[in-house]
Amino acid sequence: MNKNKIILICGCLVLAAIFYIIFLKPQSSGISDYKGQIVYIKCNNPKCVHVQEMDKAEYFTMLHEKFNDEERPLCSKCGSSARRYTKCPKCSQLYFHAADKCPDCGYSELDSANK
Ligand SMILES: [Zn+2]
Ligand SMILES: [Zn+2]
Repeated sequence: MNKNKIILICGCLVLAAIFYIIFLKPQSSGISDYKGQIVYIKCNNPKCVHVQEMDKAEYFTMLHEKFNDEERPLCSKCGSSARRYTKCPKCSQLYFHAADKCPDCGYSELDSANK
């Protein structure tokens, strides 16, 4: 009877640890890791093309609060849909964040990380 209780308690602790790792840890540490990085939110509306600079941590907090973690930022100027852009560290060109490399100079974040 006692042995079963211990197994039950251990099982609960393991489950709690798993829940903690999956649901709590990545969110808090993940977003604060981004602090100090800048993202660029560029409007999709060709008549507006407003570019907003934002702290990456703030950006993800905003997505979390307003869009349920779905990445669909809006232009702060005209309210059209917008996309996240990255600034090329080499030539300062803005390019879509999911692109593998800078369309202007060919700089790739992945390539330089592997070196
Ligand atoms: Zn706009
Ligand atoms: Zn570039």
